[in-house]
Amino acid sequence: MKEFQFIDSLKRLSPFSPPGGIGDDAALFKNTLIAKDIMAEGVHFLDNEPLDDVVDRLFASNVSDICAMGGRRGGYAALLGLAVPEYVNKEALVRAVEKACSKYSVRLIGGDTTSARRDLFMSLTIIGMPGKYVLCRSGAKSGDLIYLSRALGASKYILECRLGGQKPVAGITTDFSPEDKIGELLGSIDGVTACIDISDGLGADLRHIADASKVGLRLYYERIPPCDLPFDTEKSIEYALSSGEEYALAFTVNRDLAPLLVNTVFEKTGRHLHLVGEVYKGQGVRLEHGSQSRDIARMGYEHLG
Ligand code: ADP
Ligand code: MG
Repeated sequence: MKEFQFIDSLKRLSPFSPPGGIGDDAALFKNTLIAKDIMAEGVHFLDNEPLDDVVDRLFASNVSDICAMGGRRGGYAALLGLAVPEYVNKEALVRAVEKACSKYSVRLIGGDTTSARRDLFMSLTIIGMPGKYVLCRSGAKSGDLIYLSRALGASKYILECRLGGQKPVAGITTDFSPEDKIGELLGSIDGVTACIDISDGLGADLRHIADASKVGLRLYYERIPPCDLPFDTEKSIEYALSSGEEYALAFTVNRDLAPLLVNTVFEKTGRHLHLVGEVYKGQGVRLEHGSQSRDIARMGYEHLG
């Protein structure tokens, strides 16, 4: 069973639909936003990776889920679950957690610890505060515009370098930090109809918006913003479509309210949003390139086989 089918089976156990139940980046529970992410050795990271980096990514992915719901920035609380094998340096692990808590403004309020036979396993549950609007995956409407908060692709490139033991080409500008400023802003301005963070890949993640909103998403090839990678444009765009752990935000905006929203984001953050496509009556996620149209709804990672 694939990961998304498995999660769909679990959804049936939940009496509430998102944001109160299973299915969005975080759940709304008694005026808090709660999300959980795990990092499993051999799946999300290898034993030769620096602990600091792995723990940093665990925290980043959780914070990013709060951002995707338009949550308020900082002031998070979290519970950390650990299964720790013998080989792991416990002092280094504590230092890595301390560093991440301070970097992401997370107050650690609990967790659980056990030993592990072989692999390190970490799970973080984060609690944040919602903004004025709670951004779900389910609100996109035909006619809305689709935006991306930043260029994509570098995360996949860096991962491949790491797995292949190569040094990334110098000067590649990477920013895999959660979009806390833009997320907070999107949760405070009228007009955002759906939002998700890019954790599995643009195609795969937008499919969640398409499915939850019961609409089709159409992206335009020439509008996809690739990072500056050591490849030709075509390959860089392929990376942008499928790169995971990017933590950029992808969101849909009511067409009439979009100009004001784009201006406000620029005024408050100095950031230019990328208009990449539009929502239409239909289903799935398609990439339009000249006269060709391609299904990209499966471009990204799935964690169950
Ligand atoms: P994200 O990539 O944003 O972390 P996921 O794709 O992992 O989101 O999960 C999608 C939805 O399914 C979320 O609402 C998440 O909380 C829920 N979910 C995933 N795994 C489980 C599980 N084992 N039990 C209950 N809910 C789950
Ligand atoms: Mg997410």
